[in-house]
Amino acid sequence: MKPKLIVHGGAWNIPTELETDHIRGVKQAVEKIYPQLENGISALDAVESAVNILEENPVFDAGRGAFLNENGEIELDAIIMDGATLNFGAVAAIQNILHPASVARSVMEYTEHCFLVGHGAQIFARKMEIPELDPQALLTEREKAFYEKIKTDSQFHTRQPFDQQPMGTVGAVALDKNDNLAAATSTGGTPRKMAGRVGDTPIAGAGAYADNQSAGVSATGWGESILKVLLSKTVCDLLKDLPLQKAVQSSIKILEQRVNGLGGVIAISKDGEYGLAHNTPKMAFAYVDEDGKSISGIRSRE
Ligand code: ASP
Repeated sequence: MKPKLIVHGGAWNIPTELETDHIRGVKQAVEKIYPQLENGISALDAVESAVNILEENPVFDAGRGAFLNENGEIELDAIIMDGATLNFGAVAAIQNILHPASVARSVMEYTEHCFLVGHGAQIFARKMEIPELDPQALLTEREKAFYEKIKTDSQFHTRQPFDQQPMGTVGAVALDKNDNLAAATSTGGTPRKMAGRVGDTPIAGAGAYADNQSAGVSATGWGESILKVLLSKTVCDLLKDLPLQKAVQSSIKILEQRVNGLGGVIAISKDGEYGLAHNTPKMAFAYVDEDGKSISGIRSRE
């Protein structure tokens, strides 16, 4: 089977003037990493590298360009999961790091744990010699201005942005030449979140899941709702009875009907099919088709 790669750049109401930057960002990630998958890199290496490219891009709410929390600080969450072993690594509320997905990968590979948070994650990253940046290095003018706008708005709720404001968590799913699946997701969370708030992204089964017996999945959207229905694992479970595209659509229906949630998922089944569904106004995606051609775009809600 040919390797497969799909990425997303968040599911929200992407303004028309930002669409080109989003499409360019997701397209760049798949076009850079897919040839490496064809040359035999593992699904895990592929999703980590694809997410790293998106973390670097200030267009997205991950790494550089992340939202500020209620204190005007950036706290990042990320996960990476290996479908062959069900091993995963995750970090939450980590600061001053451009590539939290790589810290998550190191948690998986070099510790006996799955998940490190806050100060402990920070110390671990330092030990792994993962470069720490000046907090200003992750901050963009766009996010500073947005924070100033919402910080005193007493009507502001964290569900709102997925309908209206900029979001842009990033994620990737890959199937490699050895039929192994992997998934990774990385985020700055939601705007004006409480300090210490952890959303769905670093939680296995919520923000991502990968199992060689079913699928690899990366989710994005309003984290509190995604957590409640374990959106990514739900896709894998639904695959017992449904083909992949139906499974992703059903998972979004469950998200909407059970918890009034908003979000989107990308997925690759163990048989190499792609799936994408969302109930936010738009979702940015890119993947490589059977002929090796990259397909990217912003999908609007049906
Ligand atoms: N799911 C992320 C969170 O709630 C945000 C997003 O996907 O845009 O932290």
